Amino acid sequence: MKNWSVKQKIAVLLTLLTAAMAALLLFFMLSISNTVVLQTTRSRLSATVRRNLALVEMPQGKLQLGNGFSFYNNGVTTLLYSKNKALLAGQIPVGFRAEEPFQSGVTRTVQSADDQYLVLDLWLPLDWENGLWVRGLAELPDQQESTRNLILVAVLSLPVFILLAAGGSYLIARRAFRPLESITAAAMAINEAKDLSGRIALPPGRDEFSQLATTFDGMFERLERSFEAEKQFTADASHELRTPLSVIKGACDYGKKYNETPDEWQETIAMIDRQADSMSQLIAQLLSITRLDQGTELLHPELLDLGELAQSVCTEAGYPTARLQTDLAAGVMVWADPTLLTRLIQNLVENAFKYGRPEGHVWVSVSRTDADCLLKVRDDGIGIPPDQQEKIWQRFYQVDPSHGEQCGAGLGLSMVRQIAQAHGGRVSVESVHEVGSCFTLHLPHPTAAQK
Ligand code: ADP
Repeated sequence: MKNWSVKQKIAVLLTLLTAAMAALLLFFMLSISNTVVLQTTRSRLSATVRRNLALVEMPQGKLQLGNGFSFYNNGVTTLLYSKNKALLAGQIPVGFRAEEPFQSGVTRTVQSADDQYLVLDLWLPLDWENGLWVRGLAELPDQQESTRNLILVAVLSLPVFILLAAGGSYLIARRAFRPLESITAAAMAINEAKDLSGRIALPPGRDEFSQLATTFDGMFERLERSFEAEKQFTADASHELRTPLSVIKGACDYGKKYNETPDEWQETIAMIDRQADSMSQLIAQLLSITRLDQGTELLHPELLDLGELAQSVCTEAGYPTARLQTDLAAGVMVWADPTLLTRLIQNLVENAFKYGRPEGHVWVSVSRTDADCLLKVRDDGIGIPPDQQEKIWQRFYQVDPSHGEQCGAGLGLSMVRQIAQAHGGRVSVESVHEVGSCFTLHLPHPTAAQK
């Protein structure tokens, strides 16, 4: 049964169930038929004997039977006996014991030589000392024989019945499982063609298979999107790495051919150094993004003063103090990983300078609301057009990729968003093109257990 299809298993189980139900029904019918036969014979016997009794008279000691009296009617034999139990009229069936004792008004079963009878005796008083016994006998059908016949019929018809049940069950199972075949065929086609754009697309319905197909289609949709994103990510990453690499290679070739003085070599080495730095920064960002994505970036959160952390980032980076203004509320505590949060703040402040005006300003503020802790980084720079404000969070997305040498690879904000989310927070942007941007980090207040 292990290698059977579900359809076959269901068909076999349905057949067994139907056969078991049929056997149960047969057993029930057999047991009930005995009782029914006994009951109908009993009432037939009683009605016949009582009707005959009403038609018996004995004026001046002479037996008189009224019109309609019958010694054998409706399968019931009627016998008339004197007070002394001497047979006066009627014929005792062959095999029935003549000396069977009389019991007035009691219907009972009596076994004769070959047959079984129901017997009912009634006493008919004619005067205060004389009377007659009226005895009714009804032969009971041979129960064993009818049971045997019924079982024989059942056994003979069993193979046909099982064949019909098995065929019917298989047809029902096949019909019920037809949508599953479509689902399997579609999934196999998608798998074989390695084309995730295929869909099962069962007609809409409320049954389990339609729901399964819709779930699968949703899954294929997400798989396709993440597969495409993965492809894009790999292509972008290799492209971004290839650019500094080809600059390094070009600088080496040029140096070997044309560099003569130590100053020229110094310049080449400085260029290679800058490109190597940008490559290693890119690789670090890629690694961090991948780890955050896969959830393998281990967070080491601790209770941090957000204002103090923002202050140390601004001071250590050595931004021009005349252009940087801070408003950092004291004691705004957050539960966060210091390395990741430092990286997040660095990215936002660096962007504010990168995309600011040459003599513009950057404002960094830390504050607290009832709902969360806020870090805002605002600039009066080039701003972001409204239709680009959602896209800047995508990996490798840059509003203007030709922004100059300062421009990164478009990974910073994607990482910022991931870090915020890893801390149960979020980051948002408000920006007016050509006027400036304001990035806000929302982090939850530490819980009582974290304090
Ligand atoms: P990049 O390495 O290009 O800075 P980011 O992911 O940090 O990548 O930013 C994505 C894009 O969002 C940038 O290329 C830039 O176009 C835009 N951007 C980010 N910060 C600012 C800002 N403060 N002002 C204007 N544009 C910004």
